[in-house]
Amino acid sequence: MAVRPARDIWTTALGSLQTEVTRNNYETWLKQTTGLEHRDGKFVIAAPNAFVATTLEQRWSPLIQKTLKGLLREDVEVAFRVAQANGTDHEAPTNGHAAATHSGNGAHTRPRIRSAQLNPRYTFDTFVVGKSNRFAHAAATQVVQNPGVAFNPLVIHAGVGLGKTHLLHAIGHGVHANGLQYLYVSAEQFTNDFVTALREGALEDFREKYRTVDVLLIDDIQFIAGKEASSESFFHTFNDLHIASKQLVITSDARPKDMPLLTDRMKSRLMAGLVADIQPPDLETRMAILGKKAEQAGVRVKQDVIDLLARRVVRNVRELEGALNRILAMSKLTNQPVDLALAEQAVADLTALAPKTRRSNPNQVLLTVATYYDLDLEDLTGKSRKKGIVLPRQVAACRRPRTNCE
Ligand code: ADP
Ligand code: MG
Repeated sequence: MAVRPARDIWTTALGSLQTEVTRNNYETWLKQTTGLEHRDGKFVIAAPNAFVATTLEQRWSPLIQKTLKGLLREDVEVAFRVAQANGTDHEAPTNGHAAATHSGNGAHTRPRIRSAQLNPRYTFDTFVVGKSNRFAHAAATQVVQNPGVAFNPLVIHAGVGLGKTHLLHAIGHGVHANGLQYLYVSAEQFTNDFVTALREGALEDFREKYRTVDVLLIDDIQFIAGKEASSESFFHTFNDLHIASKQLVITSDARPKDMPLLTDRMKSRLMAGLVADIQPPDLETRMAILGKKAEQAGVRVKQDVIDLLARRVVRNVRELEGALNRILAMSKLTNQPVDLALAEQAVADLTALAPKTRRSNPNQVLLTVATYYDLDLEDLTGKSRKKGIVLPRQVAACRRPRTNCE
C-alpha cells in the first residue's frame, strides 16, 4: 500500500490511542508520530527521534499492535523508524543500541525544559462553555483580565479529558496576547527540570527561570505530590511568585484537600486562592462540543450523527473527540459517508477496545509505583524497612482490588 493510507490509518489509530493513554504519554510518545508504510502485514511508524522510536518499540508496541489490529482487522507487525513527518528518513531504523546511545546523553534527546508550547487550538474561542465548566471558565477569563490579583492561585480540578489543559493553555494565550511573560509546564516537567538542575549544579538557573515570569501555569500538579525535594522546590517557587503578586494557575486531577500525597502546607496554599472544578459535560454541552470540533476540522457532520455520539460517549471530552476523529478518518479511509451506520460502527469498535485495555494490571501498578519512587520492585513488595518505603507501599496497596483506600 502507498504512504497515504498508512498515514490515514495511523491518524485513526492515534484518535483511539489518545483515549487509552494519559495525556502526558500521548504528548511525549505518540503525538509526533506518523504512519509511514503499510505493506505485507507490516506497519511502519515514523518517530521524530531514536529515543521516542525505541521507547515506542519497547513500551507501547503491544497496545499499538492491538489498536491497529482492531482497525485493520488483521494482525500486523509493527516497526518504528526515525523519520520526518513528511516521510523522509534521516536515520536508520532504531534498535536497542540507538536507544542506549541516545538515552545515555539525555541532553540530546530530551528537550531542555523550557516553556512547553501551547496548543494553538486550545483557546477560549474553541472552548465550549456549559453548566459543567462555566465556573472554571469564568475564573480563567478573570485571571487573564486581572493576573496576580483576582484569584491567586487558581486551581482547576477535574477528571481526565474534561478540559483542564485546554483552559490552562487558553489562559497562556490570553496573557501572552496582553504582553505578559508566561511559563507553561507540566508538573512532571517541573520535576524533571528540578532534578536535572540539581544534577548539573544549575539550581540558580532553575530558580531564575521559574521565578521571573508573570504567570506560571502548572499542569497536573498531582505528579509532584510525594516527590519530596521537587515539592519543596515548588513550594518555594510558589511562595516567591505569590509574594511578588505573580499569577499561578494549577490544574489537578482532584481537589487539593483530597490529594493524599500533598503536604498540608501545600494544600493550604493551594486552597487559599480559588478552587474551581469541571464536571463531565451534560448532553447539550457534548453536542455543542462535537459541533465545534467538526467545524474546526472543516467538515459538516449531520445532526443525527452528533446526537448519537453525544448520547453514547459520555465519560469525557477527549473520548468524545476521539470518537469523532475516528469516524472522520474511517469515512476518508473507506470512502463512506459520515452517517449513522458508520457512527454505530465506530462507537462499537471503541467500546470493544475500551474495557480490556483500561483494567489495570497489579504487576504493572507495582512497577509504575516502583519507577515513580525510584525503588527496586523487591523493596516495594518485600519486607525491607528501608527509609521512605512506607508511602510507596501504601500507594501501591491502594491500587490492589482487595484494599479499600478511598
Ligand atoms: P484534561 O487536561 O482535563 O485531561 P484536555 O484539556 O486535554 O483535558 O481536554 C481533552 C480534549 O477535550 C481536548 O482536545 C480539548 O480541546 C477537549 N475539550 C475539553 N473540554 C472542552 C470544551 N469545553 N470545549 C471544547 N473542547 C473541549
Ligand atoms: Mg490535561
